[in-house]
Amino acid sequence: MAKEDLECSFCGRKKPETSLLIAGLDAHICDRCIEQAHGIVIEESKDATTNDLEGELQLKTPHEIKAFLDEYVIGQEFTKKVMSVAVYNHYKRLLQPASDDDIEIQKSNIVMVGQTGTGKTLIAKTVARMLNVPLAIVDATVLTEAGYVGEDVESILTRLLQAADYNLEKAQRGIVFIDEIDKIARKSDNPSITRDVSGEGVQQALLKLLEGTVVNVPPKGGRKHPDQKFIEVNTEHILFIAGGAFDGIERHISKRLNMQAMGFVASKSEDGVEKDNLLKYIIPKDLKDFGLIPEIIGRLPVLTHMNPLDSGTLRAILTEPKNAIIKQYKKLFGMDDVVFTITDEALNYLVNKAIEYKLGARGLRSLCEAILTDAMFDMPSSEEKELNVTKEYAEAKLNKSTLKKLKAAS
Ligand code: ADP
Repeated sequence: MAKEDLECSFCGRKKPETSLLIAGLDAHICDRCIEQAHGIVIEESKDATTNDLEGELQLKTPHEIKAFLDEYVIGQEFTKKVMSVAVYNHYKRLLQPASDDDIEIQKSNIVMVGQTGTGKTLIAKTVARMLNVPLAIVDATVLTEAGYVGEDVESILTRLLQAADYNLEKAQRGIVFIDEIDKIARKSDNPSITRDVSGEGVQQALLKLLEGTVVNVPPKGGRKHPDQKFIEVNTEHILFIAGGAFDGIERHISKRLNMQAMGFVASKSEDGVEKDNLLKYIIPKDLKDFGLIPEIIGRLPVLTHMNPLDSGTLRAILTEPKNAIIKQYKKLFGMDDVVFTITDEALNYLVNKAIEYKLGARGLRSLCEAILTDAMFDMPSSEEKELNVTKEYAEAKLNKSTLKKLKAAS
């Protein structure tokens, strides 16, 4: 057969009409058909990954979830336990086969109450990492009721879609962490006098999201406008975790504790009510008194608290978690063949400074940076291959740094 007469066995184009014709055993294929076939292969493999999701999402037992959390989060035993059960139940609900017994397992969205820097975000991140699901971290303070300056609540789902690389299936099984939920509390007890754009209105807007509904989400974020294409996101299987410091909620708790049956405090007289950690006694009613509307509280049925970090916990945070700060520095120095060590005394010094400057766990990192920046700057180009940080070394470096000014400011 003449070369010109050869044709693509798929579309029938003659060789001169193609840019390329590849010969197989008994057939030929042209460049266009190859491209088309390639597209089909990609699509098919995408479908296969979505179908694999069920398999990917392994149901871990609460004990396994807790053990994983233990590797990253120090202390907070109560929250880790509550969280493990809530996450377990959430994913059980998600994997349940359709049944006809009318028992519908409801969502176990969670609200964590605790001071900033006590590990709320860390817990949400760790759970998402363990389950290998996308996580969106959003700040409730930027949210406003639709039509006002700020972000619509739908933007939360835009973030989740982005975190899932726009894989809708994955996003719909993801986790959303709403930080600073306390900042959208109702400011006054009388909601009807003025419109509370950033408070109750946002809570109302959040309701439907938390509950499970189909939301039109602008994929690139921004305001909704008529000719923008939307992605329909079903929030039914999205786990919402809310966190907030709820500054001053202790007032409501102590008021309730004293008012409710005088005997409560008395009956506890053996070990007494822990006055310095009243959050332990938090119940949903306290959230309501703080200014969350009952409907929101109802949709965040799992309530837990974070304990303040004492010096022992801070000390452990420095060295124990899987990606502890000190381990990270060891690795960083190690990459320059520098052996980095730090004495116990120096570690205790760091902890004391974090407490003194009221920096919490978040401050440990800034303190380490302040102390180690000089070494990290100089050592890669020096002959010195050992760095042992003593208390004196840490003290000298910190005294030089601007962090010291924090103390004056605080
Ligand atoms: P929050 O969300 O409560 O404000 P984060 O989770 O962002 O606090 O914590 C800030 C940082 O402090 C984290 O990145 C983590 O390194 C550290 N941290 C806080 N609490 C803990 C903890 N319980 N265990 C380990 N690290 C912690």
